[in-house]
Amino acid sequence: MMDQVRIGAFIAARRKAKGWTQSQLAEKLEITDKAVSKWETGRSMPDLSLFMPLCTLLEVTLNELFAGECIAEETLRAKADEVLMDVITNWLGRDPQESTACDPASQTVLDVENVSKLYETASAGHGTEDNAVLAVNNVSFQIAHGSLVGIMGASGSGKTTLLQLIATIDKPTSGAIRISGQNIVDIPDEAAAEFRRSHLGFVFQEYNLLETLTLYENIALPLTMKSVPKENIHPMVQRISEKLDISAILDKYPYEVSGGQRQRCACARAIVADPDIILADEPTGALDSHAARQLLDTLSMLCREYGATILMVTHDVMAASYCDRILFMKDGEIKAALDREQKNKQTFFADILKKIEWIEGESHAVLEIVNP
Ligand code: ADP
Ligand code: MG
Repeated sequence: MMDQVRIGAFIAARRKAKGWTQSQLAEKLEITDKAVSKWETGRSMPDLSLFMPLCTLLEVTLNELFAGECIAEETLRAKADEVLMDVITNWLGRDPQESTACDPASQTVLDVENVSKLYETASAGHGTEDNAVLAVNNVSFQIAHGSLVGIMGASGSGKTTLLQLIATIDKPTSGAIRISGQNIVDIPDEAAAEFRRSHLGFVFQEYNLLETLTLYENIALPLTMKSVPKENIHPMVQRISEKLDISAILDKYPYEVSGGQRQRCACARAIVADPDIILADEPTGALDSHAARQLLDTLSMLCREYGATILMVTHDVMAASYCDRILFMKDGEIKAALDREQKNKQTFFADILKKIEWIEGESHAVLEIVNP
């Protein structure tokens, strides 16, 4: 078990051995003095993104950092580091630390403003009945850089429609959608594909990967399309594949690997070209619970370690409990939002259930008024 106080004391000892003050270490890591002081007194842990830079500065391995002591055995290290990184990723997924780094989290990546989508369903030959559906009704929200945001709602509540508007696959009837400041509603159809290639990543429930390409080729695809030189593509694909534990199966075709491996490959493809935002529609929908958890760990790791911003549609409370924030949709509207704050997954899970119940309750109340 990781001991925060012991780790803090170890950081302090290594820092002093280097002859640095707390401020000097803080300066090198581009964080506040207070953050360093909090680690050293065991009151908080470094943010995941700071582990590696901190290890490099203090000249210790990750393993040593978390053991809170120096370890000899040269050969054991590399292997142990990998295992530890997994453990820590899971651990942080469960209990995210308050971010002590001067984070760019206040930066808005996605800004949805008063967006509506009216489907005028073609009812040719079906008389005059009004078939218009207001699939998305005056929706506004923002997503900060590096966050994992979930959209929940019953079937037909407008989740997929909203995602497709943001994905530039469909256009809103009214409203503005800005991705990194650019209003994508104005993008002409001809330019939409290019916009998606350079700014968006996708992870869908099915039909994620091209079956005629190997996993390697699938992951490399966004880079190939961006005309990244071949010699740069290889290390980029290799690095992310190792991280997502699929480097041994890169020569295989999607039908030769498991659902979980396919989805991790889809994640690798979504992140490899460093998109502004990753859009995921029910990414765990077709997975068993073990593979689903692994995928959710992967998604939160991408946020915390790669600064990815992810918007994920899900109807699964377990998946939602991994998010930093949940938007609840009903009848095309966002009825409520819930922030994880410092809560652990279990508490957040319970909060989400309560909120769903409340939303359901509200709708019953409305029904009662309409049909007394
Ligand atoms: P969800 O993903 O939450 O299940 P959708 O966004 O798929 O919901 O659907 C929202 C509403 O819009 C539903 O009433 C659905 O029937 C309607 N809808 C979705 N797509 C279309 C379309 N292409 N044409 C007409 N109506 C649509
Ligand atoms: Mg849907």
